[in-house]
Amino acid sequence: MIEKQLINLFYTHYFFVGAFFTFVVGCCVGSFLNVVIWRLPLGMSLSVPGSHCPKCQTEIKLYDNVPILGWLVLKGKCRACKVSISPRYLVIEAVTGFMWLAVMYAGRHYDLPLSQVLLGLIATSILIAASLTDIETRTVPIQLVYFGLAVAFILALAFPESQILRSTHPLYETQPVYSMLSDFHPRLRSLFHCLFNVSIAYSFMYLCAKLGRKIFGSHTIECDPPVLVKLRKDNCQAEDDKALAWKEILSEKDEKIRFFTCDKQVIEVNRKGHATRDGLDYKLDEEQKVLIDKLAFPSAVIGGGDLTLITLCAAFVGIQGSLVSLGLASFFGMIYLMISKREAKMTQRAIPFAPFIAIFVWSWFLLWPHYIEQIRNIVKALQS
Ligand SMILES: [Zn+2]
Repeated sequence: MIEKQLINLFYTHYFFVGAFFTFVVGCCVGSFLNVVIWRLPLGMSLSVPGSHCPKCQTEIKLYDNVPILGWLVLKGKCRACKVSISPRYLVIEAVTGFMWLAVMYAGRHYDLPLSQVLLGLIATSILIAASLTDIETRTVPIQLVYFGLAVAFILALAFPESQILRSTHPLYETQPVYSMLSDFHPRLRSLFHCLFNVSIAYSFMYLCAKLGRKIFGSHTIECDPPVLVKLRKDNCQAEDDKALAWKEILSEKDEKIRFFTCDKQVIEVNRKGHATRDGLDYKLDEEQKVLIDKLAFPSAVIGGGDLTLITLCAAFVGIQGSLVSLGLASFFGMIYLMISKREAKMTQRAIPFAPFIAIFVWSWFLLWPHYIEQIRNIVKALQS
């Protein structure tokens, strides 16, 4: 009942008020995302301490912290010490606001229930945070994924429509699990549906990651001139570089990193620091120094962060949405990789992948009937 009134309020009578309200709240969330992006990878608390100038540590007053306006009024400078504040804050706030507006507008266009719009807004915010942390640190904080999954599950239980609606839309009839559960209470039905999407996406990504490792195997780096590497029980260190833990380089227990020494021997080390030299046991209890001219390490085609992110997206946009997004993201990611010509490092993928996934998952919220129609056309063309 309340939802009906709210829908009336938001979608019809006061659309511009609703739109403005959505934009303002979106900007405020964007302002909070700035904090999340900065603090989450560092393991800092999101609430304490409050916002402060990174240079002079002066606390930022509430009125200076107003999204977009605060930055514009101060012309991008700290009120106390005049150090310039990155326009990045302004951009993230505005972009979040406009993306929220677009999701809300799509909600009105397709006449979606507000719970689904809410899911879209939260998903959009999490995807922005995931993309920006991936760009900065090449990882997607697992807390973001857990938070997103929790939100999707709670919404599925509280508002079954957040999951169901798309299945009742004429363009979205293929949901076998959903129709199988018709005897269940709508809340349970919706929760199972969400859980099913998540587990299928996870299994699929897990298999792809395994397969990717088998097919694309290892990444080789030639060292010319040869490099002196120190091998230890827990880590290795190349000349002046920082030490890299075996666990950081190798994610699976059956993986190995191989060092090719200048005297034509091969040293293999696994995740636990067990090593062999030309097949014989090689103790790393004491530091070993070797001169190498080549090394090979397993390249993760699908990183752990991508795996969990796609799993999360399945809770937001279902199996079809997440797989289409994955496909498009991989295609455009590959093109970007070729253009930018960046090389993967031992612990880092060449390019951040989360932004590519995020863009297409977000566009799914805006254009999903078009996507589904295209999928249908392709399936039809393949059948005939
Ligand atoms: Zn300052």
